[in-house]
Amino acid sequence: MNIHEYQGKSILKKYGVRIQEGIVADTPDIAVEVARNLTEQTGTKWYVVKSQIHAGGRGKGKIAGSEQRGVALAKSVEDVRTIAKNILGKILVTHQTGSEGKQVNKVLIAEDVYYPGPSEPKEYYLSILLDRSLNRNVIMASTEGGMDIEEVAEKHPEKIIKEWIDPLVGLQAFQARKVAFELGLSGEAFKEMVKFITALYRAYIESDASMFEINPVLKTSDNKILAVDAKVNLDDNALFRHPDLAEMRDTNEEDPLEVEASANNLNYVKLDGNVGCMVNGAGLAMATMDLIKLSGGEPANFLDVGGGANATTVEAGFRIILKDPNVKAILINIFGGIVRCDRVATGVVEAYKAIGEIPVPIIVRLQGTNAAEGAKIIDESGLKVYSAIEFKEAATKVSEVLKELGV
Ligand code: GDP
Ligand code: MN
Repeated sequence: MNIHEYQGKSILKKYGVRIQEGIVADTPDIAVEVARNLTEQTGTKWYVVKSQIHAGGRGKGKIAGSEQRGVALAKSVEDVRTIAKNILGKILVTHQTGSEGKQVNKVLIAEDVYYPGPSEPKEYYLSILLDRSLNRNVIMASTEGGMDIEEVAEKHPEKIIKEWIDPLVGLQAFQARKVAFELGLSGEAFKEMVKFITALYRAYIESDASMFEINPVLKTSDNKILAVDAKVNLDDNALFRHPDLAEMRDTNEEDPLEVEASANNLNYVKLDGNVGCMVNGAGLAMATMDLIKLSGGEPANFLDVGGGANATTVEAGFRIILKDPNVKAILINIFGGIVRCDRVATGVVEAYKAIGEIPVPIIVRLQGTNAAEGAKIIDESGLKVYSAIEFKEAATKVSEVLKELGV
């Protein structure tokens, strides 16, 4: 699960990681009010107004139809009001949102931390993530902060420092010092960075995260080290251990069909193709998507209805698939191991009737216990549903249907 920058920063702060302080607002009036409060708390004279969406590249991104950037500096509370007005409720387009962009419902009003002082402010890159090939967490750091790390990795791979953490012993003090040293820091800034990395690692582990990306980490002009940005991904499967973090979910940021599916306990991922599918078991679902491609179609989704496919789950699955306007045909592929094929067939017929007229052809492949009885129920239903028992039969039927539809 992804969370917003302001939420990620609240986790960091709880663990003693220094952050660029800020307060979130959802109207221009509140933005002005929180800006005043922020000045009382921190003494800041300038502010940054930061769009809160689940995508990066906000600093370079623009609000659709205007020149307003997604992250902007404000030199007065009136500036804060103007920028908040320009951003709130509007669509922000960045290189990570795609051309359709994302609506901004909240802005973070943060203190300006790039103030002048004895030295120049300097940006660094720091992230912690799971390296799945080595089964270890890795700390990645670079002096090229504020830039796209993918670009740094491509053009200057030597500028990325990597430090892998042994899961048995955890982060060792020398490792945090090594990273800070390789970033070229010394004196107070070195000590601050070691503290920063140590606290960040603890925050990462204890919140069961799979990614913390802080880009930029800033060395301020008076040698403080703090997080200006926070991109956090939490492990969905561990959220039950963290009710406070689970509450950070923002369904506005998710595909509405995926939200509806998760409310129905269906494992659904929306894709861009034209053949919807409903399958029991993730492995069979993957094989079914391959089958759709081999038959000349493109899968419109991944949908695993789980072991006990009954009329209710099938109906919920149907309704979700049918809301996708790209779907031209539906392939149901169920293996009757735990559940019997005739029961699934009855479920399909009941669900079909409950929904009413389904405008696209449906191919139902049922294999396993009582497969023949299942096929018979489908064939005799009088509905626009085709039965199949063998995988190959289903594939041929999908090809035929697509040909008939001219797709
Ligand atoms: P992203 O573009 O979505 O990654 O958003 P960031 O939070 O990283 O902000 C984008 C850029 O805004 C940063 O790289 C900074 O250059 C700039 N920025 C952020 N905070 C401040 C600030 O307090 N003062 C100034 N002057 N610039 C800031
Ligand atoms: Mn950033």
